[in-house]
Amino acid sequence: MSKPFWEAASRGQLLIQRCPSGHRQFYPRAVCIVCGDDPEWEAASGRGTVHTFTVIRQNHARPFRDELPYVVAMVELEEGVRMMGNLTDCQLDEVHIGMPVEVHMIEAEPDVGVPFWRPAAGGPGTRGATA
Ligand SMILES: [Zn+2]
Repeated sequence: MSKPFWEAASRGQLLIQRCPSGHRQFYPRAVCIVCGDDPEWEAASGRGTVHTFTVIRQNHARPFRDELPYVVAMVELEEGVRMMGNLTDCQLDEVHIGMPVEVHMIEAEPDVGVPFWRPAAGGPGTRGATA
């Protein structure tokens, strides 16, 4: 079911599902959760905001234990769907709800991309500034 998502991620592209009536959803499902129609894949903007987050301080599984502490965020995409992912490239005390973020793909294994998130360019503290 999620194979197209992971194949696209390995190419650096973030996909979500959208049905013919325009309902979007994530995570991937066989039918639209609103109308039951067949969803198709579409490229997401890769931009969103932090809806909520948590700081992980204990995880004994590799490779995570080498990264502690790290942030896992629920990101609300511009398209309206929510997606869970690690938040990188920022200090723990910078993270806040509503923070603009953008996707970047981490190559977890050769040819396997995993979507991670980082502060959007021109993000916290510089909002409203011209690029
Ligand atoms: Zn629908």
